[in-house]
Amino acid sequence: MFTYSKQIPVVATPDVLVCGGGLAGIGAAVAAARGGAKTMLVERLGFAGGFFTAIIGSAFDGFVDERTGAPVVGGIVFEMLERMGVIQPGQGSQLRYNVNGDLSFVEMHPERVIPRCDPERFKRAADEILREAGVEILFHSQVSDVVSRDGRVETVLVSNKAGLVAIQPRIVIDCTGDGDIAAWGGAPVEKAEPLQPMSLHFRIAYLQPSFDLRRRCAAVLQAAQARGEIGLYGGPYPATFSGRDVYFNATRYPGDSTDPLDWTAAEIQGRKDAWTMYELWKAELPEFAEAYFMTSGPTAGARESRRIVGDYVLTGDDVAEGRRYDDVVVLGSWRLDRHPPKESGYHHIPWTPPYDIPYRTLLPRTLENLLVAGRCHSATSEALASSRVTATAMGMGQAAGTAAALAVQGKRMPREIDIAQLQERIAAAGGILTAPEAGDVAVGDPRW
Ligand SMILES: Cc1cc2nc3c(=O)[nH]c(=O)nc-3n(C[C@H](O)[C@H](O)[C@H](O)COP(=O)(O)OP(=O)(O)OC[C@H]3O[C@@H](n4cnc5c(N)ncnc54)[C@H](O)[C@@H]3O)c2cc1C
Repeated sequence: MFTYSKQIPVVATPDVLVCGGGLAGIGAAVAAARGGAKTMLVERLGFAGGFFTAIIGSAFDGFVDERTGAPVVGGIVFEMLERMGVIQPGQGSQLRYNVNGDLSFVEMHPERVIPRCDPERFKRAADEILREAGVEILFHSQVSDVVSRDGRVETVLVSNKAGLVAIQPRIVIDCTGDGDIAAWGGAPVEKAEPLQPMSLHFRIAYLQPSFDLRRRCAAVLQAAQARGEIGLYGGPYPATFSGRDVYFNATRYPGDSTDPLDWTAAEIQGRKDAWTMYELWKAELPEFAEAYFMTSGPTAGARESRRIVGDYVLTGDDVAEGRRYDDVVVLGSWRLDRHPPKESGYHHIPWTPPYDIPYRTLLPRTLENLLVAGRCHSATSEALASSRVTATAMGMGQAAGTAAALAVQGKRMPREIDIAQLQERIAAAGGILTAPEAGDVAVGDPRW
């Protein structure tokens, strides 16, 4: 062991410090700042969006009730879609949407709007919404440690190009996806054994997306695996932003993103596998005649790592049965989508009705001034297979930020605020807290 001691500057004392600028972090920071709290956001990358933007892109899951296409998350999610030009201002709740940008869903519901989020448009929209809300942003700044005293986070240590600096906030919102603040601050956390696999997405230019292309890419991978030419892979799940290029969610690396060696291995193996797949397709499929390997990453992404243990732990049954709770702060709706870490190809993703996510799942046990939102909230690994996704994370973030601002305003701790007042504020800001009527509309299974 090595002991290190040093005096470092306290560079900020915000009302609310949001750690991590993924979907949850954007929602949290914007809502806290709009609620009147002096808000700072620290993010280790040079842009916001988390794995939504840092893995090239993904679908906007958790956004709709699959039966009817009615939205189940509103507020800042609608605003982001407006800012990216996907919908017109004020249209959010009027429209019916495709469940995600996956080609099989798109072909099932061609009449619905696709909530497609080009990562570059998303990054710009995130910069704008954060700055307009008055959030002080620190990019390229990684939280490295946490000092907690008497059941409260007192100091958050951040490393960036200024060296090591300290931030002393009144309230912290952990949106790191990995529960870094909760874990390093001493709150209880859990990790599934095994975790869902990590994936490195890659984008191929000059390629026409279609459902048939997907089927043919899958057949090539199956045959290559049988010949021993490729190891573990997922899907493949192709999707597109432009209609002239395709990004593939197809590499799969089992490991723990909070272990630096595992994450390094996921990057290296991911790149190797991505190129192997591309070269196989290029050699065997005429659609790839003009295709060009444009980019991978920027990073391999983690679907699951630490989960906090909160005042309530959301369960798989809560999700599967669409249970209601008095302290609902956002609705979830995505399927139970647990990527298997040791199997290749497509996996079964059981449908779920919209379900309530209680405020208590954002409150970690033992630390009073900490809220947690996004894929590290309090849920079993089974439930997280649904609640981890993008729109749900952003809605949770909006709820946590609204709660933090209320706590600051009332000089209380997040556990002490009035839940009815919190729900009123979320609804007044466009949040959806009541599941839409769905009647007897049946859902289809994705075709793969
Ligand atoms: C490969 C892959 C494919 C996916 N596909 C889909 C999909 O198709 N549809 C869908 O809806 N969802 C998908 N997801 C899930 C989705 O991207 C995220 O789980 C969801 O956006 C959760 O958001 P979050 O904000 O909670 O966490 P994250 O996206 O993980 O964001 C956390 C943020 O915190 C930052 N951070 C972490 N640690 C620190 C630190 N110590 N200090 C400072 N900053 C830190 C990170 O850089 C990041 O910006 C996918 C995820 C992966 C990995």
